[in-house]
Amino acid sequence: MVGQNNDRCDIAIVGGGLAGGLAALALAAKRPDLDVRLVEPGPVGGNHIWSFFDSDIAKSDRWLVAPLVRHHWLRYDVRFPAHTRSLRMGYKSITGEALAEAVEAALPAGHVIADKAKHVAPDHVLLSRGGRLSAKHVIDARGAGRFPTLTSGWQKFVGQALTVKGGHGIVHPVVMDATVDQLDGYRFVYLLPLDDRTIFVEDTYYSDDSDLDLPVVRERIAAYAAAQGWDVTATGREETGALAVVIAGDFERLWPSSDRTARIGARAGAFHAMTGYSLPDAVRTATALPALAASADLAERLRDRAAASWRRQRFYRMLGAMLFRAANPGERFRIFQRFYRLAPGLIARFYAGRSTGADKLRILSGKPPVSVRRAIAALSGLDWK
Ligand SMILES: Cc1cc2nc3c(=O)[nH]c(=O)nc-3n(C[C@H](O)[C@H](O)[C@H](O)COP(=O)(O)OP(=O)(O)OC[C@H]3O[C@@H](n4cnc5c(N)ncnc54)[C@H](O)[C@@H]3O)c2cc1C
Repeated sequence: MVGQNNDRCDIAIVGGGLAGGLAALALAAKRPDLDVRLVEPGPVGGNHIWSFFDSDIAKSDRWLVAPLVRHHWLRYDVRFPAHTRSLRMGYKSITGEALAEAVEAALPAGHVIADKAKHVAPDHVLLSRGGRLSAKHVIDARGAGRFPTLTSGWQKFVGQALTVKGGHGIVHPVVMDATVDQLDGYRFVYLLPLDDRTIFVEDTYYSDDSDLDLPVVRERIAAYAAAQGWDVTATGREETGALAVVIAGDFERLWPSSDRTARIGARAGAFHAMTGYSLPDAVRTATALPALAASADLAERLRDRAAASWRRQRFYRMLGAMLFRAANPGERFRIFQRFYRLAPGLIARFYAGRSTGADKLRILSGKPPVSVRRAIAALSGLDWK
């Protein structure tokens, strides 16, 4: 029986979150000859809204995410104490539910295995409820977990979908509203207008620790809504997160070369060091996977990709070091306030993790919003390379 004891397949993906779900979809679309299984104990996609800028994803890769997009806006806004700005750039959201529906439609019945892996090896998975799934390749997509070998700050948040009587009046996403009280580091509110009456409100902190006091943050969301004059009649979906903002770390310790199991997603360290976001990389990896799946050394090739991506993140780790080590917590907002005065193309490349040499110089040039002495001290004390 499919998905039961001592089964065998071509590719076993462990973890049906963002990276695992997209990988399963890409393989089903481009390599229908392969027997692909997805091991996921919870609902595929989980309770998530994942958002991205149009410029995060190459045109040639958009086929993978287009069917999953549930919200689409043509521009977004930012608000800081010193200026506000509206940027013309498409912004989209996909949902966990959309990913789950697509995976269910793409994989044959029984190929999503609703179980937890208790042991993951390069060529087999042991399932919690008993049974062994053997595979030519196992791909570990179990998400970030904890990264004890990395030095990081945190981007932590609580988001709630609020229903507002008579409408909330917000037309575009507000990616950062930093006009709020600066508490616990750099604080901003992120707004996604899901429809005329429903708005997703996320209270976010670039903080030194990952602790979230849920009742307190919920109260702050309610206070923010009240300050906008919104009459909130219901609170829907709630999501919380604490994403590592990596400022130093050795890739070899994150994914030792002796570990021969293929990895993708946050598990492979494939996320933007400053934002913690992994969707752009998850899409790039998923669309590359059908061609890579034929190679016997899949794990090594995925590790090489992840290592190269880690190296490309060096500049963002350095910015993270400056944010967390050179700026006083209450002054951190000035770094983003200044960044958002820069050219739209530079901002787009920053989020896509594709800053050019000229972009990097531009970001670092001019009157710095942090103490130069502290910035130099922060960088010299860390292996941010
Ligand atoms: C609330 C929140 C909002 C975010 N929003 C965005 C966003 O808007 N845009 C963006 O780019 N990034 C966002 N991120 C950051 C990042 O992109 C996500 O964390 C993303 O989900 C990481 O993808 P992943 O597939 O590596 O891990 P996950 O999506 O976390 O998936 C891991 C999966 O593995 C499963 N799993 C764990 N252990 C086992 C096991 N033993 N056996 C089998 N399965 C297992 C889990 O159940 C889970 O489904 C967000 C993160 C959070 C927490």
